[in-house]
Amino acid sequence: MFRSSSRRALSLQPWTLYRLSRFSASAESSPIAGNPDLTVKNLIGGKFLESRSEASIDVINPATQEVVSRVPLTTGEEFKAAVEAAKSAFPKWRNTPITSRQRIMFKLQELIRRDMDKLALNITTEQGKTLRDAQGDVFRGLEVVEHACGMATLQMGEYVSNVSHGIDTYSIREPLGVCAGICPFNFPAMIPLWMFPMAVTCGNTFILKPSEKDPGASMMLAELAMEAGLPDGVLNIVHGANDTVNNICDDDDIRAVSFVGSNTAGMHIYSRAAAKGKRVQSNMGAKNHAVIMPDASPDATLNALVAAGFGAAGQRCMALSTAVFVGGLKSWEEELIKRASTLKVNAGVEPGTDLGPVISKQAKDRICRLIQSGIENGARVVLDGRNVKVPGYQDGNFVGPTLLADVTSDMECYKEEIFGPVLLCMQADTLEDAIDIVNSNKYGNGASIFTTSGVAARKFQSEIEAGQVGINVPIPVPLPFFSFTGSKASFAGDLNFYGKAGVQFYTQIKTVTQQWKDLPSQGVSLAMPTSQKS
Ligand code: NAD
Repeated sequence: MFRSSSRRALSLQPWTLYRLSRFSASAESSPIAGNPDLTVKNLIGGKFLESRSEASIDVINPATQEVVSRVPLTTGEEFKAAVEAAKSAFPKWRNTPITSRQRIMFKLQELIRRDMDKLALNITTEQGKTLRDAQGDVFRGLEVVEHACGMATLQMGEYVSNVSHGIDTYSIREPLGVCAGICPFNFPAMIPLWMFPMAVTCGNTFILKPSEKDPGASMMLAELAMEAGLPDGVLNIVHGANDTVNNICDDDDIRAVSFVGSNTAGMHIYSRAAAKGKRVQSNMGAKNHAVIMPDASPDATLNALVAAGFGAAGQRCMALSTAVFVGGLKSWEEELIKRASTLKVNAGVEPGTDLGPVISKQAKDRICRLIQSGIENGARVVLDGRNVKVPGYQDGNFVGPTLLADVTSDMECYKEEIFGPVLLCMQADTLEDAIDIVNSNKYGNGASIFTTSGVAARKFQSEIEAGQVGINVPIPVPLPFFSFTGSKASFAGDLNFYGKAGVQFYTQIKTVTQQWKDLPSQGVSLAMPTSQKS
C-alpha cells in the first residue's frame, strides 16, 4: 500500500486536473502536469502545513490509475501539534455562544451548496463514483450540517423544580474536549460531515483523519468550514494509516473517537481507544438483506433491487448485497438479469454512467475472488461482470453488475462483506425462514422487506435483527433527526452517529442541584439528605 513518492508520467484528462492546489505543496502552479509535488497538507491550528514526512501514499484515480495527489504519513510530532492546537482552541471555543457556533454551521451549509460541483468532481476523481452519486454523497453530509444548525435545541437539558424543599435539579450538556474522527474511503464527504459538524457545534475541537485513499473532499470541507468562520485550531486534519490511527487511540488529550470503516480496523480502534478511557462509536461492515415476498409489487421491487445492489458499484455500507426470495427466484430471475444488464459501467465523469470503478486493483481482485469462490461452491453466476471492458478506460478497476443465484448461508461470498457490485440471490420457503436467514448473519446494518401485505411487513419489522429496517425501501438510512442505527457486528459503542444520540456522544451530562431558600437554619444533620420531612 505504501509507495514512495516517485513520480509517474501522467497522461491527464482535463477532469482529473481538479485538485486541491491550496492544500497541496507547490500550490498555485499547474494542477498536476509538471507539478513536482502533489502532497496533501496537514491542517494544524488553522494553517495548511506541508508535512515533513518522507513517506506518502499515492491517491489514485480508480478509473485511470493516474496519481491525483499524495497523502503524507503525518509524523508523530505533527500529530501532537494538531492535538495541542485543538487543546488550546478548546477553552475559548466551548465558551463561544451556541448561537455563534450554530451560525457558522448555517454559513457552512451555504458554502457547501456553493461548491457542490467542485466537491463532487473531486470525489469522482479520487473515489470513482458517478458525479450524480458524488453529489448525493455531499448532500447526505450537508443534511447533517443542517441538523447541527439546531444544536441549541438539540442539547437542551432538563429541569425539575423543587425536588426537595426549596431545591431544584437541572442537567446541562457540556462538550468533551478534543474529539477525533477516522474515515473510510467510500463516502469522502458524507462521513467527515457525520463527524466534525456535530462535534464542533457541541463545543468540542476536532482532529479528522480522512481516508488515505481519498482525502480531497475533507480538505475542501475544512477550508469551507474556515471560510464559514470556524476559528483556528477548532478543526485540524492529520493524515496516514495505522500509525496515525494508533496515535489517535493512545493520545491522552483525545476524549472521544468516531470511526467508520471495516470490522478489522473498527474493533481494533474500539478496544484500543476504550482501553485508554475514551468514548468510542464504531460503525463497521455490513451484509444488507432484502426479503422479497411473492406479493411484492414487481416493477418497483426490481428497480429497487437493481439500484440498491449496484449503485456506487456496491461500495456503500447500506448497499443491498443479498436478496432472499420467499417462494423462489424463478419468477424474478429473468427480469432481474435484464434490468441489471442494462446498467452502464464507465468512468464516473462520463455522462450516463450507472456504475463507476471500485476503489483499487486489490478491491477488484478480492471481489472477483469472492465471486469465483461462490461459483466453486455451487452458486450459479447468472450475470458475470468480472470481464467488463470499458473503452477509453482500459486501466480502470471496473467490475460490472454480477448476480449469483442459489447462494447458501455457508458460502464464503455470503459470509464475507464483498463491497462490490454483486447481488447474491437466496431462496426461502416462508417469511419465517427468510427472517431466520437474515437474523443468523453476524452483521446488522440494514434489512428491507418488499411486500404489499401489512401483516408481513409488521412481522418483519418486529422480528428482524437489524438496526435499520426498510419496508418497500431498499436503503433505509434515516435522515439526521434520527440516528444511523446499525447493530450487531455492524456497530460497536453505545451512542450512534448523528440525531439525538450523536449529540449525546459529543457531550457529557452534568447535573446541578441548587438550594435557594430563606428559612432559619435547621442545625447540622449528618444523616443522608432525603426529600422526606423529618
Ligand atoms: P478501512 O477499515 O480499511 O479504513 C477505514 C479507516 O481506518 C481508514 O482511515 C484507515 O486508514 C483506517 N485503518 C484501516 N485499517 C486499519 C488498521 N489495521 N489499524 C488502524 N487503522 C486502520 O475501511 P475502508 O475500506 O476505507 O471502508 C470500507 C468499509 O467501511 C466497509 O467495511 C464498509 O462497510 C464500512 N463502512 C461502514 C459504514 C457504516 O456506517 N456502518 C459506512 C461506510 C463504510
